[in-house]
Amino acid sequence: MAKCPHCKEEISLKDIDRETFGAGFLKQEIMYSCPYCNSVIGFSRGNYR
Ligand SMILES: [Zn+2]
Repeated sequence: MAKCPHCKEEISLKDIDRETFGAGFLKQEIMYSCPYCNSVIGFSRGNYR
């Protein structure tokens, strides 16, 4: 369980907004954003998903 650093709402993984950038599996970035306040929480990159 994560907490949004901006609005302090608890966010579960199934609620989190994910946007995936990049085509293919070699270069892909995923942006996580809070579904409550739409603040960007973080990025992850990689091909593990
Ligand atoms: Zn938030």
